[in-house]
Amino acid sequence: MFTKRVRSLIRRLSPLSRQLGLFERLTVVIPPPKRQHAEPARPPTTRNWAPQSAVSALPPLTQGPINVRRAGKSRISDSKLSSIWAELIQQFFPERTELLAYTVAWSTRRQRRTLASCNLRRKLVNVALELNRPDCDQWLRPLLYHELCHAVLGESIGREGGRRAWHGREFRELERRHPHIKALDLWMKQGGWKHVVRSHRSQQAAKARLK
Ligand SMILES: [Zn+2]
Repeated sequence: MFTKRVRSLIRRLSPLSRQLGLFERLTVVIPPPKRQHAEPARPPTTRNWAPQSAVSALPPLTQGPINVRRAGKSRISDSKLSSIWAELIQQFFPERTELLAYTVAWSTRRQRRTLASCNLRRKLVNVALELNRPDCDQWLRPLLYHELCHAVLGESIGREGGRRAWHGREFRELERRHPHIKALDLWMKQGGWKHVVRSHRSQQAAKARLK
């Protein structure tokens, strides 16, 4: 009952939140086993970018690019993720140095369906915090390469059947260039991601019991 109420409250708040830019993101939702991609709700806009004065008022950061869009919630790149991102650009798209400006960070919330997302407008790539464990390191490259392909193709990606084909032919042709994409797909199909989520949940629960 309580959950129902909360859900309906969230539903009612959502349009407002979207207007305020709170929940707005271009999420690359990847439910196992088949990947899906949510199309952005509206065309690109610079309306929500923080003015330069707000940016310069921010405290200095020690590392990584800064997300200027939300002065209150700026994100900092994770050093491991951003170095993989930079290596992938160097290896596959050396001419696209502007993509180095992306912030690449672990998600701040737990994820159940989304392994990673690429927000073209905020130049932000989020990777599920559940994947921040040594046995998942091997998946970070193909996963970040997938998001990099979104960044490379941008919002001008072709349409198929009247909708922007985020994972259409153009995308798949580009994605295929990475040698480990197939292995990542197979890992997801075989329940690898589900296992990671379950194991993260149980670790968190065990920690909570110890407190
Ligand atoms: Zn995608």
